[in-house]
Amino acid sequence: VIEQADVIVVGGGILGCCAALHLLDRGIENVVLVERDGLAQGTSHAGAGFIGKWAGGYVPQWTEEELEIEAYGLDFYRALAEDHGLDIGYKRNGNLWVATSDEAWKTHIEPIADNAGVPERQVLSPGEVQDITGIIPADGVVGGLLHPHGAQLSAPLAARAVASQAEERGARILSRRPIEGLRVENGRVTGVDTTLGPIAAEAVVLATGVWTNKLLEPHDVWLPMAPLTATRIITEPIGVPGSMPTLMLQEYSAIWLREAAGGLLWGCSYTSRPRREFVDTEVPERFDHLPLDAVFETQRAGVAASQTIPVLSRYQSMTVAQAAPAFTADLRALLGRVEEVEGLFVMTGDNEAGITHGPGYGRLIAELVVDGASGFVDADVFRPGRFEDRYRTVADVANAVEGSDSIFAIDASAS
Ligand SMILES: Cc1cc2nc3c(=O)[nH]c(=O)nc-3n(C[C@H](O)[C@H](O)[C@H](O)COP(=O)(O)OP(=O)(O)OC[C@H]3O[C@@H](n4cnc5c(N)ncnc54)[C@H](O)[C@@H]3O)c2cc1C
Repeated sequence: VIEQADVIVVGGGILGCCAALHLLDRGIENVVLVERDGLAQGTSHAGAGFIGKWAGGYVPQWTEEELEIEAYGLDFYRALAEDHGLDIGYKRNGNLWVATSDEAWKTHIEPIADNAGVPERQVLSPGEVQDITGIIPADGVVGGLLHPHGAQLSAPLAARAVASQAEERGARILSRRPIEGLRVENGRVTGVDTTLGPIAAEAVVLATGVWTNKLLEPHDVWLPMAPLTATRIITEPIGVPGSMPTLMLQEYSAIWLREAAGGLLWGCSYTSRPRREFVDTEVPERFDHLPLDAVFETQRAGVAASQTIPVLSRYQSMTVAQAAPAFTADLRALLGRVEEVEGLFVMTGDNEAGITHGPGYGRLIAELVVDGASGFVDADVFRPGRFEDRYRTVADVANAVEGSDSIFAIDASAS
């Protein structure tokens, strides 16, 4: 007997979980989510859990669509934590950008301070930065810019909470069930083949992150995206206040930090291995054997930043996580129909913001699958085929990302 679904979502990271829940919202009854491994064990496992309005001047490539998606996501997670009472490690302490010199303020913070897309933003004095963070002495900074609605959460807990909501409402979540391939007949998707047999469906959403092209390859489709790794460290509890906003200090290798169980969680931009590890080699199923060079580079950024944040020199112990977000040349997601195969949709190109954008992307893809169009945002900017053949290799895409005027570029921290 062939298993049946109305829509199959492949991939149990944050994007796939959000797709499943929103498909139910749009009235699809028989949703099946199929995950190769456990839920949130891919890149979502490493997500640092910063959520905010990054399109409000922090990432200039993100405009009104992302801003709308971010506002939706912030509200979605607030409801998950506060209305549904789910433990996702949610704290709405705000997102704070800090500068240590007038020059850094001008280069890195002014575009955010000037961005009218986020009317609730606030400029903070050095004394206010000290008070709100509890770990940055006022004499080391010229000021800060606060987005008070910003928040933090645990990315894997959030993904699992979204999946459990979908399951409660009737979705079937099949973990440890790798997809071996798509079933396609006469240019139309008819389901997927899994290690435990086929599942039939008229629509399939691939939310398979950096593994998406592997599943598309037999169908002569290649999406221009580049897996570029990101790394984070978490220390033991070192007295970081639980009320601290998430922090961004561009001048120390674009360091980003937040409180995690009384310790510090941080990461930065880096150029060492394994940043481009998967530009020339295939992405493995798991990220646990990646080189650790970036961990040392991240520690060095912490040492440099300890001039401004002294607690960064006080930890003794740490855990690390590394994974590979999927980047695109214009830093916007790949969401929508795959033109070559009818009934097939993709949902990837997270550009290291999939936790923030996941709920909104889920809503958008559900509208595209069910209605063929979106009343939420302009779906055209995310159309997977928009690059035509401008980028032919993973290296082409990686070079475009690293040459972009953005926090994801190699020289992002130059100031
Ligand atoms: C260090 C780091 C820090 C980050 N910090 C933030 C942050 O603060 N805020 C933010 O918004 N974002 C952040 N991100 C980005 C965020 O983690 C990603 O954007 C997001 O997790 C991507 O989710 P995904 O569902 O697309 O991918 P994944 O989580 O990788 O999910 C894809 C899933 O597909 C499954 N799969 C693949 N192939 C198959 C197959 N053949 N059959 C079945 N299943 C399959 C995989 O096992 C995997 O579970 C960070 C990322 C990193 C690495």
